[in-house]
Amino acid sequence: MPELPEVEITARRLDEALAGAEIESTMAPGINALKTFDPPLHALDGRTIEGIRRRGKHLVIDVAGDLSVLVHLMSAGRLQLYDKRASLRDRTSRLLIRIAGDGDRELRLREFGTKQAAWVKVLRADELEDDPALATLGPDAWPEPPEDLRERLAAQGARPLHSVLRDQRVIAGIGRSWVDEILWTAELSPFERANDLTDEQDATLRKAMQDVLGGALEHYQQVVHLPIPDKLPLPLQVHRHQGEPCPRCGTTIEAVHYEDYVMCYCPQDQTGGRVLKDRRLSRLLK
Ligand SMILES: [Zn+2]
Repeated sequence: MPELPEVEITARRLDEALAGAEIESTMAPGINALKTFDPPLHALDGRTIEGIRRRGKHLVIDVAGDLSVLVHLMSAGRLQLYDKRASLRDRTSRLLIRIAGDGDRELRLREFGTKQAAWVKVLRADELEDDPALATLGPDAWPEPPEDLRERLAAQGARPLHSVLRDQRVIAGIGRSWVDEILWTAELSPFERANDLTDEQDATLRKAMQDVLGGALEHYQQVVHLPIPDKLPLPLQVHRHQGEPCPRCGTTIEAVHYEDYVMCYCPQDQTGGRVLKDRRLSRLLK
């Protein structure tokens, strides 16, 4: 599940390798992945990649001639750069961008699992920021959380922090993994109301965002290299660690199971000792 740090390291590694490279040809074997038809995908052929960057959890490939390729990896996509071209039998391939010049380098959008959710849009550069996927994004959570973070959260009323911090319209880049780590680091309850933060909690939350997301990225700088691994080594301390001792206080990490994800927290540090057994109970406690 790529979130801000995973997408950022992907953008950095690809930008280092591909800025200035020429696109030889393109193909979209994933019939559902390409969401636009004008300009056509082949408008990229023969053009130079100017750079690759991140916006929220999206990747943007800027291409000479005022074109941009906007990519969302969703939950199971990866954008990887290989030295060899994909086998046409590789069923994970959604988009192939073949790089001109020496060798057979290929930038490949792959997706694991059965769902086809990752998507790509080829846009004119001046249409990029108006695309609904970007136009609705809040400011990035990193490197500097927005100045008005507290006001942005307060505008969400009594919604719990765990849901508001993952709302890309409020703040961009945080998802199910890193929200658990950020709230645990800030020692805040996942069910703390967004409009109920003290000055101190606001400051702690901002610092936790910077430390947790920045720390993950520092880790990736050391261990993530091209072609970008299928499975990134997420340095998680709480998320996916239910049943294990809290690294800070030793209390057993608890989890609340939702339909398609698990929220983890330390009762001692975050919920005043209360254990939230399931979704119904957690709703009562918010
Ligand atoms: Zn703890």
